[in-house]
Amino acid sequence: MKTWIPDARNFAYLNWKQVDALPRDSTLLVLPTAAIEQHGHHLPLATDTLINNLLLGRALEKLPPDAPVFALPPVHYGKSNEHIGFPGTLSVSATTFMAVLRDLGSSLASAGFRKLVLYNTHGGNTALIDVMARDLRAEFKLRTFALHGSGGVKFEGLSAQERAYGFHAGEVETAFLLASVPELVDRSAYTSNYIADVAKPEMLLPENAPATFAWLTRDIAPSGVMGDPRPATAENGALWLDQAVTKLAAALEAMLRFPDPPKP
Ligand SMILES: [Zn+2]
Repeated sequence: MKTWIPDARNFAYLNWKQVDALPRDSTLLVLPTAAIEQHGHHLPLATDTLINNLLLGRALEKLPPDAPVFALPPVHYGKSNEHIGFPGTLSVSATTFMAVLRDLGSSLASAGFRKLVLYNTHGGNTALIDVMARDLRAEFKLRTFALHGSGGVKFEGLSAQERAYGFHAGEVETAFLLASVPELVDRSAYTSNYIADVAKPEMLLPENAPATFAWLTRDIAPSGVMGDPRPATAENGALWLDQAVTKLAAALEAMLRFPDPPKP
């Protein structure tokens, strides 16, 4: 898989003696979690993994050279059962996903590391990331952090409809790939579907509401796209990428500085 992680910050490029020499209390390790799943007719299966790597790699470049921050190899497979029925989706169950994160947390804690970031770019993993951030804290006393997507960027220029319901393979993801790996985007194969209409707030919404319905992509989107990729441009992708990278780097710096809890 292509990587934007700077070599000097790639944990897996170290040998064990170099790892042994890292300061255990202050080193911040980032575990990327993403997915290999259908992204419509126009984007590759690895879209979430590529975006994760791109954003994280560029954010790591912004950190001071002496900041002890390393990217672990990503967990490529995520909980993607919302995309079952689309060939190429490789999903793991919630229990498998959580078990992998638990085992990696156990390995890091047993090596003496204290600070771990779960950096996730696949919506289907989000609930599990929040569970595991707390469980790894409770079970292994790791100081865990959760970091999601683009770090809260506003995505200027996005329509209200796309902002609310451009869930998957829509304008933002397409723009990020146009700005970074345009050869992986088939611009002749754009399709569009929406799960809900922002102008018609119903009682039951797909997400982010007090009353929701559980959805599967195939219920709504025959092509696999939820959103509209057609307005995506490489220029917007590059702009949003710069903004996201700034936010993510600031979050990582805050995590580095975050104080240890008082000793009981
Ligand atoms: Zn995606």
